[in-house]
Amino acid sequence: MPELSLEALEKRREALETRIILACKACQRPRESVTLIWVSKFHPITSVENAIQLGAKEFGENRVQEAIEKFSTPRAGIHCHIIGPIQANKLRKAASVADSIHSIASLDAIHKLESICAETGKILDILIQVNTSEEDTKSGITMSETESFLLSLPEAPHLRYRGLMTIGKNTGRAEDSRAGFCFLREMRDKMHASGGLFENFSELSMGMTEDLEVAIEEGATLIRVGTALFGERARLI
Ligand SMILES: *Cc1c(COP(=O)(O)O)cnc(C)c1O
Repeated sequence: MPELSLEALEKRREALETRIILACKACQRPRESVTLIWVSKFHPITSVENAIQLGAKEFGENRVQEAIEKFSTPRAGIHCHIIGPIQANKLRKAASVADSIHSIASLDAIHKLESICAETGKILDILIQVNTSEEDTKSGITMSETESFLLSLPEAPHLRYRGLMTIGKNTGRAEDSRAGFCFLREMRDKMHASGGLFENFSELSMGMTEDLEVAIEEGATLIRVGTALFGERARLI
């Protein structure tokens, strides 16, 4: 994987920023209502350092081990988001490195994370992943079980339920993801309005390189972008 120079990364960032600004304008949302997560998976630490030089603060990794390698030494103001499925035996490591985990899809993981965070006193942001594409290869709870799953979430003093995450459809047509994104927004709205456990349930993590415009139109607050920033990955995940 050829490494991206700072200049090359800056150009790609500017092109992406233009896309984000246009998408926000098109639906009259303020640019600040969308946070860019730089998905640095499979890219070297030097790319992360270049991104930080360009002002990046939020990074996404989908494998715990890689997140540990790049982000276990805390840097002021830099946050690590885990966006990939986590095996039960890696939850402790995930909780140690992450500020936020977007890929939670079981009560078991919730209970384990709460007890891990209770030991260390950490407060962890949690997003629930929904499989809106209904493709078997994707993780997440199904759309039909989403509401009952959310209503069954336990009170967890060390976890903050922040919202919902999904991965769009992998068809090459961004429009195909719209219905799933819309479902996510409506579910977020419903839960957020109910308050209580959901008082912080304001985030919608959706939109990647191919479909971020549709995601922004449908209300994404966190977009997770890898390829548009760092280029192609050696392995596709
Ligand atoms: C890799 C990945 C991304 C970034 O995808 P790009 O298409 O490269 O922008 C976003 N979200 C998840 C969950 C990922 O695994």
